[in-house]
Amino acid sequence: MPKMTIDEIKASVAAEIDRRSDDLIDIAKHILANPEPGFREQKTSKYVGDQFEKLNIPFESSIGLTGLKGVLEGGSSGPTVGVFGELDSLIVLGHPHADPLTNAAHACGHHAQIGNMLAVAVGLQAPGVLENLSGRVALLAVPAEEYIEIEYRDDLRVEGKLEFLGGTPEFIKSGAMDDVDLAMMTHTENRDWTHDGTIGVGATNNGMVAKRIQFLGVASHAGGSPHLGTNALNAANIALMGIHAQRETFRDHDTIRVHPIITQGGIAVSSVPADVRMETFVRGRTIDAYTSAAKKVDRALRAGAMAVGGRVKITTVSGYAPIQQDPLLTSIYEMNATPLVGDGNVVQMGHRSGSTDMGDVSQIMPAIHPYAAAATGKAHGDDYVVEDYELAVTTAGKAMAHTIVDLLSENGSRANEVISRFIPPMTKSQYLAFMRSLQSEEEYGE
Ligand SMILES: [Zn+2]
Ligand SMILES: [Zn+2]
Repeated sequence: MPKMTIDEIKASVAAEIDRRSDDLIDIAKHILANPEPGFREQKTSKYVGDQFEKLNIPFESSIGLTGLKGVLEGGSSGPTVGVFGELDSLIVLGHPHADPLTNAAHACGHHAQIGNMLAVAVGLQAPGVLENLSGRVALLAVPAEEYIEIEYRDDLRVEGKLEFLGGTPEFIKSGAMDDVDLAMMTHTENRDWTHDGTIGVGATNNGMVAKRIQFLGVASHAGGSPHLGTNALNAANIALMGIHAQRETFRDHDTIRVHPIITQGGIAVSSVPADVRMETFVRGRTIDAYTSAAKKVDRALRAGAMAVGGRVKITTVSGYAPIQQDPLLTSIYEMNATPLVGDGNVVQMGHRSGSTDMGDVSQIMPAIHPYAAAATGKAHGDDYVVEDYELAVTTAGKAMAHTIVDLLSENGSRANEVISRFIPPMTKSQYLAFMRSLQSEEEYGE
C-alpha cells in the first residue's frame, strides 16, 4: 500500500470530487425534481440505493421506513464518522420545483445534502485514499427531517410502524447509529445572510416538541339549530387566543416559537364544526424552556374546549433536541473549509430559532451541522432555490471529506481526540428515555 501524506490524500479526494462534479450535481437535481415528504420517500430512497450500488458501497435499507446506511471501510480499524444526507422534501404551495400532484417541494435544500454526502463517498473512493485511513465512514440517508404531516406520521406510530416522528430519532432507536462515533452534515442556507460562497459554522438551534390536537364538538344545523351543537372551531379559536395570550410570558432568551396550524376547520358549512384539528410545534432554546412553554399551550387548548363545553385530545410527540456543535470538530472542519472558500468566508453563526434532527445526534456524540450559503429565497418559502450547486454539493462535499481525512489519518488520532474530549449530555438509553418522557396523550372536557 503506497503511503500518502495527508496533503496528497486531500488533493486526491478533491480531484476525484471535481472529476465527478457534474454527476453529483445531476443526482441532487434529480432528487429536486422528484420531491417526497418524510416517511414517503420511496422513490428517493430507491434512487439513493441505486447510487450506492453504482459506487459499490454496501448498504442497508428500510431503516426508519425509508432510510439507508452505506459504509466505506478504511484500510485499518478505527472510529466511524457518520455523514448525513436528508431524503425528505417539504410541502410548499407554489414552489417552482413542487410536485404538481402533492405540492411536495425541496424548499429546504435537502436534495443538495444527498449530493454532498455522495460527494464525500466519491472523494474517499479516489485511488489510495481509504487504504490510508483508519476507521469507517457511514453514509446515513435519513428520512423525515422536516417535522410535518404530524397526523399522518402519528397514525404510523399508532399502527406500530414508527415510535418517533422524525427519521433520525428512528435511526438512533434502531441501532443504526450504534457503531457511529461522530457525525456531520452540511445544510444549505440563504446566501443573503452573508454572501454567496460562505459557509457558516457553530450555530445553535431551538429544540422542540410537536402536538396533534383534535377538538370535538357536536354537529347540528348551523342555521336552524346551532344551539343544539357544540362548535369545535370556536373551541380552536379560543385556544389560539389563549396561546397568543401566553406570548408575553415567553422570555426573549428562551426564543420560544409556537406556530399552530388548523388542518381541518370543519366539514360542511351548513353543519356546526364537530371535529377540528390542529398541529403545532413548541420550540425553545433549552429543554426546560420548551417543555415549560408546552404546558402553557396545553392549558390554552383545554381552555378552548372548556369554553364551548366540548372536548380536546392532545397528543404530544417528542420532536428534536437542541443542538450543541462540538467545538473541536468545528475547528477541524473550519481548517478544511477555509482553503476551499477563502479566508474570512467561514463564518461563526449565532442562535437559530428553527430546529434540526442533528440536535438529537449532538446529544449523544460529537456532531457538526455547517451551512453552505448557496440558496436564494426564504427557507421553507415558495422561493427557496439552491443556486450555487458547486458550493452546495461539490465544495461542501470536499470540506467534509477533507475533515474526515484529518480525523481518520494517523491511526484515527484526531477522531479519537474529539471523541475523548466530548462529554455527552445523554447516553443513547438516556436519550431514548428522554424522548419517551415527552410523548403523551390527554383527553380533556365534557
Ligand atoms: Zn427545513
Ligand atoms: Zn432542512
